[in-house]
Amino acid sequence: MVQVSCVLDYTELDKLFYLTQIAPRIPRRVFDTHVHVYLPEHVSRVPDSVWLSNWALESSRALSADDVHECVRRLYPDTEYRFGAFPMPVAGIDRDACNHYLAQMGREGKLVPLMLVDPQSDPELAERDLIESQFAGFKPYPTLAGDGTGNDVGIFDFMPREFWAILDRHGKAVMLHLPRKERLADLNNVRELLEARDKFPNVHIILAHLGRSYCPYFLERGLAELGDPTGFLFDTTAVLNPAVYDIAFDRIPTTNILYGTDLNVFLWHGKREWDEREYHNLCREEFTWKKIRRPREVEEQYTLFLYEQMRAILDAMDRHQLSPEDRDAIFYGNARRALGFTA
Ligand SMILES: [Zn+2]
Repeated sequence: MVQVSCVLDYTELDKLFYLTQIAPRIPRRVFDTHVHVYLPEHVSRVPDSVWLSNWALESSRALSADDVHECVRRLYPDTEYRFGAFPMPVAGIDRDACNHYLAQMGREGKLVPLMLVDPQSDPELAERDLIESQFAGFKPYPTLAGDGTGNDVGIFDFMPREFWAILDRHGKAVMLHLPRKERLADLNNVRELLEARDKFPNVHIILAHLGRSYCPYFLERGLAELGDPTGFLFDTTAVLNPAVYDIAFDRIPTTNILYGTDLNVFLWHGKREWDEREYHNLCREEFTWKKIRRPREVEEQYTLFLYEQMRAILDAMDRHQLSPEDRDAIFYGNARRALGFTA
Protein backbone atom coordinates (compact mmCIF):
# COMPACT_ATOMS: atom_id res chain seq x y z
CA MET A 1 0.00 0.00 0.00
CA VAL A 2 1.23 3.45 -0.89
CA GLN A 3 1.67 5.56 2.20
CA VAL A 4 0.46 9.11 1.85
CA SER A 5 3.19 10.46 4.08
CA CYS A 6 5.60 9.35 1.35
CA VAL A 7 3.39 10.41 -1.54
CA LEU A 8 2.55 13.87 -0.26
CA ASP A 9 5.71 15.86 0.13
CA TYR A 10 4.25 18.67 2.20
CA THR A 11 6.72 21.51 2.65
CA GLU A 12 6.84 24.63 4.80
CA LEU A 13 6.22 26.60 1.64
CA ASP A 14 3.00 24.64 1.02
CA LYS A 15 1.88 25.37 4.54
CA LEU A 16 2.51 29.07 4.11
CA PHE A 17 0.64 29.07 0.80
CA TYR A 18 -2.31 27.36 2.48
CA LEU A 19 -2.36 29.78 5.41
CA THR A 20 -2.14 32.94 3.30
CA GLN A 21 -3.97 32.09 0.06
CA ILE A 22 -6.49 29.40 0.93
CA ALA A 23 -7.36 29.14 4.62
CA PRO A 24 -9.05 32.57 4.83
CA ARG A 25 -11.35 31.75 1.92
CA ILE A 26 -12.01 28.01 1.77
CA PRO A 27 -15.55 27.01 2.73
CA ARG A 28 -16.26 24.98 5.84
CA ARG A 29 -17.36 21.98 3.79
CA VAL A 30 -16.18 20.75 0.43
CA PHE A 31 -17.24 17.88 -1.78
CA ASP A 32 -14.71 16.85 -4.41
CA THR A 33 -16.57 15.06 -7.23
CA HIS A 34 -13.55 13.65 -9.00
CA VAL A 35 -11.00 11.41 -7.31
CA HIS A 36 -9.64 8.11 -8.62
CA VAL A 37 -9.37 5.54 -5.88
CA TYR A 38 -7.80 2.13 -6.47
CA LEU A 39 -5.38 -0.22 -4.78
CA PRO A 40 -2.08 -1.43 -6.24
CA GLU A 41 -3.51 -4.94 -6.66
CA HIS A 42 -6.30 -3.59 -8.90
CA VAL A 43 -3.74 -2.42 -11.44
CA SER A 44 -1.09 -5.12 -11.10
CA ARG A 45 -1.74 -6.26 -14.69
CA VAL A 46 -1.36 -2.78 -16.15
CA PRO A 47 2.10 -2.63 -17.74
CA ASP A 48 4.55 0.21 -17.12
CA SER A 49 4.28 1.20 -20.76
CA VAL A 50 0.64 2.19 -20.12
CA TRP A 51 1.52 4.29 -17.06
CA LEU A 52 4.23 6.01 -19.05
CA SER A 53 1.98 6.63 -22.06
CA ASN A 54 0.80 10.04 -20.86
CA TRP A 55 1.66 12.51 -18.13
CA ALA A 56 -1.54 12.08 -16.14
CA LEU A 57 -1.17 8.31 -15.89
CA GLU A 58 2.50 8.63 -14.98
CA SER A 59 1.59 11.09 -12.23
CA SER A 60 -1.23 8.93 -10.82
CA ARG A 61 -0.88 7.24 -7.48
CA ALA A 62 -2.79 4.23 -6.18
CA LEU A 63 -4.58 5.60 -3.12
CA SER A 64 -7.00 3.78 -0.84
CA ALA A 65 -10.02 5.61 0.56
CA ASP A 66 -8.12 5.99 3.85
CA ASP A 67 -5.08 7.38 2.00
CA VAL A 68 -7.25 10.06 0.40
CA HIS A 69 -8.72 10.97 3.79
CA GLU A 70 -5.25 11.27 5.27
CA CYS A 71 -4.18 13.39 2.33
CA VAL A 72 -7.06 15.86 2.51
CA ARG A 73 -6.72 16.19 6.28
CA ARG A 74 -3.19 17.35 5.65
CA LEU A 75 -4.12 19.61 2.75
CA TYR A 76 -7.27 21.15 4.18
CA PRO A 77 -7.18 20.75 7.97
CA ASP A 78 -9.97 23.24 8.62
CA THR A 79 -12.46 21.80 6.14
CA GLU A 80 -14.89 18.91 6.20
CA TYR A 81 -13.71 17.37 2.92
CA ARG A 82 -15.73 14.58 1.31
CA PHE A 83 -15.33 13.08 -2.13
CA GLY A 84 -16.80 11.07 -4.97
CA ALA A 85 -14.54 8.36 -6.34
CA PHE A 86 -14.18 5.97 -9.24
CA PRO A 87 -11.47 3.63 -10.53
CA MET A 88 -8.68 4.77 -12.80
CA PRO A 89 -10.18 4.19 -16.24
CA VAL A 90 -7.18 2.40 -17.63
CA ALA A 91 -7.17 -0.72 -19.83
CA GLY A 92 -6.16 -3.76 -17.79
CA ILE A 93 -7.49 -2.58 -14.41
CA ASP A 94 -9.36 -5.26 -12.48
CA ARG A 95 -12.62 -3.42 -13.00
CA ASP A 96 -14.85 -5.66 -10.91
CA ALA A 97 -12.48 -5.85 -7.93
CA CYS A 98 -12.01 -2.08 -7.93
CA ASN A 99 -15.75 -1.43 -8.24
CA HIS A 100 -16.36 -3.88 -5.42
CA TYR A 101 -13.81 -2.12 -3.21
CA LEU A 102 -15.35 1.29 -3.90
CA ALA A 103 -18.84 -0.02 -3.10
CA GLN A 104 -17.52 -1.32 0.21
CA MET A 105 -15.90 2.03 0.97
CA GLY A 106 -19.20 3.70 0.07
CA ARG A 107 -21.05 1.47 2.54
CA GLU A 108 -18.54 2.48 5.20
CA GLY A 109 -19.31 6.13 4.47
CA LYS A 110 -15.78 6.92 3.33
CA LEU A 111 -16.66 8.09 -0.18
CA VAL A 112 -19.46 8.28 -2.74
CA PRO A 113 -18.70 5.64 -5.40
CA LEU A 114 -19.20 5.68 -9.13
CA MET A 115 -18.95 2.42 -11.01
CA LEU A 116 -16.50 1.91 -13.86
CA VAL A 117 -18.24 0.51 -16.95
CA ASP A 118 -16.96 -0.25 -20.41
CA PRO A 119 -18.79 -1.41 -23.53
CA GLN A 120 -18.08 -5.02 -22.53
CA SER A 121 -19.89 -4.65 -19.19
CA ASP A 122 -23.05 -6.75 -19.02
CA PRO A 123 -25.94 -4.23 -18.83
CA GLU A 124 -28.12 -6.46 -16.66
CA LEU A 125 -25.36 -7.12 -14.15
CA ALA A 126 -24.33 -3.47 -14.22
CA GLU A 127 -27.86 -2.36 -13.40
CA ARG A 128 -28.18 -4.84 -10.56
CA ASP A 129 -24.84 -3.80 -9.14
CA LEU A 130 -25.60 -0.10 -9.52
CA ILE A 131 -28.67 -0.45 -7.32
CA GLU A 132 -27.59 -3.14 -4.87
CA SER A 133 -24.19 -1.58 -4.22
CA GLN A 134 -25.65 1.94 -4.14
CA PHE A 135 -23.36 3.52 -6.70
CA ALA A 136 -24.13 7.15 -7.51
CA GLY A 137 -23.74 6.41 -11.21
CA PHE A 138 -21.47 5.18 -13.98
CA LYS A 139 -17.95 6.14 -14.97
CA PRO A 140 -17.32 5.21 -18.62
CA TYR A 141 -14.20 6.34 -20.46
CA PRO A 142 -13.44 6.97 -24.15
CA THR A 143 -10.15 5.06 -24.24
CA LEU A 144 -11.91 1.85 -23.11
CA ALA A 145 -13.51 1.64 -26.57
CA GLY A 146 -12.26 1.95 -30.15
CA ASP A 147 -8.53 2.02 -30.80
CA GLY A 148 -7.74 3.15 -27.25
CA THR A 149 -6.88 6.76 -28.10
CA GLY A 150 -10.36 8.14 -27.44
CA ASN A 151 -10.11 10.11 -30.67
CA ASP A 152 -12.02 7.72 -32.91
CA VAL A 153 -15.10 7.11 -30.75
CA GLY A 154 -18.38 8.88 -30.11
CA ILE A 155 -20.10 9.21 -26.74
CA PHE A 156 -22.48 6.31 -27.45
CA ASP A 157 -19.58 4.05 -28.46
CA PHE A 158 -18.01 4.06 -25.02
CA MET A 159 -21.26 4.74 -23.12
CA PRO A 160 -23.88 2.76 -25.06
CA ARG A 161 -27.49 3.97 -25.06
CA GLU A 162 -28.48 0.92 -23.00
CA PHE A 163 -26.31 2.22 -20.15
CA TRP A 164 -27.83 5.68 -20.44
CA ALA A 165 -31.28 4.09 -20.17
CA ILE A 166 -30.24 2.33 -16.94
CA LEU A 167 -29.12 5.59 -15.35
CA ASP A 168 -32.25 7.32 -16.60
CA ARG A 169 -34.50 4.72 -14.97
CA HIS A 170 -32.85 5.30 -11.61
CA GLY A 171 -32.04 9.02 -11.80
CA LYS A 172 -28.30 8.40 -11.42
CA ALA A 173 -25.22 10.28 -12.64
CA VAL A 174 -22.65 9.78 -15.37
CA MET A 175 -19.14 11.21 -15.08
CA LEU A 176 -18.34 11.88 -18.70
CA HIS A 177 -14.95 12.58 -20.25
CA LEU A 178 -15.60 13.83 -23.75
CA PRO A 179 -13.93 11.93 -26.61
CA ARG A 180 -12.44 13.31 -29.85
CA LYS A 181 -9.62 15.79 -30.07
CA GLU A 182 -11.73 18.94 -29.97
CA ARG A 183 -13.60 17.88 -26.81
CA LEU A 184 -16.51 20.24 -26.01
CA ALA A 185 -15.73 22.22 -29.17
CA ASP A 186 -16.41 19.14 -31.34
CA LEU A 187 -19.78 19.45 -33.07
CA ASN A 188 -20.38 15.69 -33.00
CA ASN A 189 -19.85 15.67 -29.25
CA VAL A 190 -22.28 18.55 -28.85
CA ARG A 191 -24.87 16.79 -31.01
CA GLU A 192 -24.55 13.59 -28.97
CA LEU A 193 -24.72 15.48 -25.68
CA LEU A 194 -27.94 17.15 -26.77
CA GLU A 195 -29.34 13.78 -27.77
CA ALA A 196 -28.41 12.30 -24.39
CA ARG A 197 -29.99 15.20 -22.51
CA ASP A 198 -33.11 14.93 -24.63
CA LYS A 199 -33.58 11.15 -24.47
CA PHE A 200 -32.34 10.53 -20.94
CA PRO A 201 -33.54 13.57 -18.98
CA ASN A 202 -33.22 11.92 -15.56
CA VAL A 203 -29.48 11.38 -15.87
CA HIS A 204 -27.23 13.85 -14.06
CA ILE A 205 -24.69 14.45 -16.83
CA ILE A 206 -21.37 15.61 -15.38
CA LEU A 207 -18.87 16.87 -17.94
CA ALA A 208 -15.46 16.25 -16.44
CA HIS A 209 -12.90 19.06 -16.57
CA LEU A 210 -15.49 21.62 -17.77
CA GLY A 211 -15.82 19.50 -20.90
CA ARG A 212 -12.04 19.03 -20.94
CA SER A 213 -11.66 22.78 -21.39
CA TYR A 214 -8.22 23.44 -19.96
CA CYS A 215 -7.91 26.35 -22.36
CA PRO A 216 -10.60 28.95 -23.14
CA TYR A 217 -11.08 28.03 -26.80
CA PHE A 218 -12.84 24.74 -25.96
CA LEU A 219 -15.29 26.13 -23.43
CA GLU A 220 -16.03 29.27 -25.43
CA ARG A 221 -16.75 27.41 -28.64
CA GLY A 222 -18.47 24.47 -26.93
CA LEU A 223 -20.89 26.60 -24.94
CA ALA A 224 -21.73 28.61 -28.04
CA GLU A 225 -22.67 25.38 -29.85
CA LEU A 226 -24.39 23.79 -26.86
CA GLY A 227 -26.69 26.75 -26.21
CA ASP A 228 -28.54 26.66 -22.89
CA PRO A 229 -26.38 24.51 -20.57
CA THR A 230 -29.36 23.47 -18.42
CA GLY A 231 -29.19 19.73 -17.84
CA PHE A 232 -25.39 19.61 -17.89
CA LEU A 233 -23.10 19.81 -14.91
CA PHE A 234 -19.49 20.87 -15.31
CA ASP A 235 -16.74 19.78 -12.95
CA THR A 236 -13.70 21.99 -12.43
CA THR A 237 -11.21 19.13 -12.17
CA ALA A 238 -7.63 20.03 -13.13
CA VAL A 239 -8.64 23.41 -14.52
CA LEU A 240 -6.32 26.22 -13.42
CA ASN A 241 -6.72 28.69 -16.25
CA PRO A 242 -8.27 32.00 -15.06
CA ALA A 243 -9.69 32.71 -18.53
CA VAL A 244 -11.56 29.39 -18.47
CA TYR A 245 -13.03 30.16 -15.04
CA ASP A 246 -14.09 33.59 -16.30
CA ILE A 247 -16.05 31.99 -19.15
CA ALA A 248 -17.49 29.35 -16.81
CA PHE A 249 -18.67 31.83 -14.18
CA ASP A 250 -20.00 34.20 -16.85
CA ARG A 251 -21.98 31.67 -18.86
CA ILE A 252 -22.73 28.58 -16.78
CA PRO A 253 -25.21 28.98 -13.91
CA THR A 254 -23.55 28.37 -10.55
CA THR A 255 -26.12 25.59 -9.99
CA ASN A 256 -24.37 23.64 -12.77
CA ILE A 257 -20.72 23.81 -11.66
CA LEU A 258 -19.09 21.23 -9.39
CA TYR A 259 -15.74 21.30 -7.66
CA GLY A 260 -13.38 18.43 -8.51
CA THR A 261 -9.63 17.74 -8.43
CA ASP A 262 -8.24 14.46 -9.83
CA LEU A 263 -6.43 14.43 -6.51
CA ASN A 264 -4.48 11.22 -7.03
CA VAL A 265 -2.95 12.63 -10.23
CA PHE A 266 -1.77 15.90 -8.68
CA LEU A 267 0.36 15.08 -5.68
CA TRP A 268 3.22 17.11 -7.11
CA HIS A 269 4.37 20.69 -7.04
CA GLY A 270 3.82 22.84 -10.07
CA LYS A 271 1.60 25.05 -12.13
CA ARG A 272 0.61 25.66 -15.74
CA GLU A 273 1.17 27.91 -18.68
CA TRP A 274 -1.18 28.11 -21.64
CA ASP A 275 -1.66 29.23 -25.15
CA GLU A 276 -4.99 29.34 -26.95
CA ARG A 277 -5.48 25.58 -27.16
CA GLU A 278 -2.70 23.91 -25.20
CA TYR A 279 -1.47 23.77 -21.66
CA HIS A 280 2.05 23.10 -20.48
CA ASN A 281 2.71 21.62 -17.06
CA LEU A 282 5.54 23.05 -15.00
CA CYS A 283 6.73 20.92 -12.12
CA ARG A 284 9.37 20.58 -9.46
CA GLU A 285 9.44 16.78 -9.39
CA GLU A 286 11.21 14.65 -11.98
CA PHE A 287 8.85 12.89 -14.37
CA THR A 288 9.68 11.52 -17.80
CA TRP A 289 7.09 13.95 -19.24
CA LYS A 290 8.83 16.97 -17.78
CA LYS A 291 9.77 19.03 -20.82
CA ILE A 292 9.91 22.53 -19.41
CA ARG A 293 12.64 23.21 -16.88
CA ARG A 294 13.12 26.36 -14.91
CA PRO A 295 16.14 27.16 -12.69
CA ARG A 296 16.13 25.05 -9.55
CA GLU A 297 15.53 28.00 -7.25
CA VAL A 298 12.38 28.83 -9.26
CA GLU A 299 11.05 25.25 -9.22
CA GLU A 300 11.68 25.03 -5.50
CA GLN A 301 9.18 27.83 -5.01
CA TYR A 302 6.32 25.86 -6.63
CA THR A 303 3.52 24.83 -4.32
CA LEU A 304 1.24 21.84 -4.77
CA PHE A 305 -0.71 21.83 -8.02
CA LEU A 306 -3.86 21.15 -5.97
CA TYR A 307 -3.30 24.38 -4.07
CA GLU A 308 -2.79 26.29 -7.33
CA GLN A 309 -6.11 24.92 -8.56
CA MET A 310 -7.89 25.82 -5.32
CA ARG A 311 -6.46 29.33 -5.48
CA ALA A 312 -7.54 29.70 -9.12
CA ILE A 313 -11.14 28.81 -8.22
CA LEU A 314 -11.24 31.04 -5.16
CA ASP A 315 -9.73 33.95 -7.11
CA ALA A 316 -12.30 33.50 -9.88
CA MET A 317 -15.12 33.38 -7.32
CA ASP A 318 -13.84 36.65 -5.86
CA ARG A 319 -13.51 38.28 -9.30
CA HIS A 320 -17.08 37.29 -10.11
CA GLN A 321 -18.31 38.26 -6.64
CA LEU A 322 -20.07 34.96 -6.04
CA SER A 323 -22.33 34.92 -2.99
CA PRO A 324 -21.70 32.51 -0.09
CA GLU A 325 -24.69 30.47 -1.36
CA ASP A 326 -23.17 30.20 -4.84
CA ARG A 327 -19.85 29.13 -3.38
CA ASP A 328 -21.50 26.51 -1.21
CA ALA A 329 -23.42 25.21 -4.25
CA ILE A 330 -20.23 24.78 -6.30
CA PHE A 331 -18.23 23.31 -3.44
CA TYR A 332 -20.96 21.08 -2.04
CA GLY A 333 -24.66 21.43 -2.78
CA ASN A 334 -24.60 20.75 -6.51
CA ALA A 335 -22.67 17.52 -6.00
CA ARG A 336 -25.13 16.44 -3.36
CA ARG A 337 -27.95 16.89 -5.84
CA ALA A 338 -26.12 15.16 -8.71
CA LEU A 339 -24.73 12.22 -6.74
CA GLY A 340 -27.65 11.91 -4.32
CA PHE A 341 -25.69 11.56 -1.10
CA THR A 342 -27.01 12.64 2.26
CA ALA A 343 -25.52 15.62 4.08
ZN1 LIG B 1 -9.87 12.03 -13.62
